This record gives sequence, structure tokens and C-alpha cells, in this order.
Amino acid sequence: MTVKIKWLDHASFQIRSESSVIYVDLAEEAEPAENADIILVSHIHGDHCDPKIIKKARKEDTVVIAPANCSSKIGGAVTSLKPGEKTTVSDVTVKAVEAYNFKRFRSPGNPFHPKGLGVGYIITLEGKTIYHAGDTDFIEEMKQLGPIDVALLPIGGKYTMEVEDGAEAAIAINPKVVIPHHHWEGKFGQTPDAFKKRVEATSDVSVVVLAQNGEFQLS
Ligand code: ZN
Ligand code: ZN
Repeated sequence: MTVKIKWLDHASFQIRSESSVIYVDLAEEAEPAENADIILVSHIHGDHCDPKIIKKARKEDTVVIAPANCSSKIGGAVTSLKPGEKTTVSDVTVKAVEAYNFKRFRSPGNPFHPKGLGVGYIITLEGKTIYHAGDTDFIEEMKQLGPIDVALLPIGGKYTMEVEDGAEAAIAINPKVVIPHHHWEGKFGQTPDAFKKRVEATSDVSVVVLAQNGEFQLS
């Protein structure tokens, strides 16, 4: 039983088992090649939620899970989970968890991602647990996620974690593997290699840096 995790672009991933195809945060240059059983959206920002790309992967019975403030943007039936709530779709369990900034601000007192805007997701399928963090700082709640096999962490800087607090988050979550994501054009000085070096030098967590459309296999 194998679970495959493909990085499509930015925060977009495909998670696939023999029986289910899941997409998270379809946007940017993501090209979903297969129809989705489940589409997850962490929050309403255009680089995480693009209705045109969601439409490409959505079929009649696709379950779309997104925060309530995204439903009209996406259209059709949308299920919303608040942090702590979970749902099961055939053999896949999806649980929403907190995702927010408390130290990265648009203007004084106004975080880029205020608490309540978005969520992260813990996805369990075929006995494997995958955590997509959404857009977030390293928050206290990450210490209470429970066992995680693979954590997909935003290490883009500015709006999300940087190498330093991303590494602290990775070590606190303590998954087997971390796959960092967001753009790497160096705009905010973050590089996945620096992140990998830092995490692996100070913990047993492995960091897998995927190329666009590159895949990691979990078995
Ligand atoms: Zn965002
Ligand atoms: Zn983002």
C-alpha cells in the first residue's frame, strides 16, 4: 500500500493512494492530471485557491472541503471544517487544524493570516498521516498534532515561516519526513536547501525537497 505525494506548485499537492485522489490548494501553475475524489482548500488567498484550476479536477461527486468564506468563490457544494472538526470520505479522514500568523503582519495588529481565516489539514489514508499546514507561523498547536508521517510546511518567508522558525516547527511536529513548499525564487531569502540542512543537522526528521511535479512515495 503506497501513498504518493506530488508537489504541483507553491502550496499545491496531489496525494494519491490506490483508491483515492486528493488535491490540496489547487492554484498557481498546478496542473491536476486526474479527477479528484477530494479537493481541500486551506484558505481564500488566490495563490491557494484558484476556482479555474479546481474546476479542472472536480467531477460531479468530488468532495470539496474549504473554509466557509471560500464557498462562494469556489461555487457548488462546499463542506467546511473548523479546527478540530473532521470528516471521512470513503477511506480518507480529513481533520482541520489551526493555521494563522501571530508574528507576521500586513500592518500593525493586522496579521497576513489572522486566526480564523484559514486552516491546515491532517489527512489520513491507508494508515498514513499527512499534514498540510496551510499558511501559518510556527504555532503552539503544532506541538499537539499527534503522530505525523509527512508534514508539508510553508517555508516561503514574509507571509509564512522562514528557515529558522520552519525548522523549529519541523522539529516540534517531529514527522518522519518534511516536504517544504511555497516559492523558492529567493524573493524573501529562503531556500529549501538551507532548511534541509538546518533540520537534518539538529533532528532525525528527513527533509525531502521536491522539484515541480516531483513525487515522494510513502510506503
Ligand atoms: Zn495566504
Ligand atoms: Zn501561501
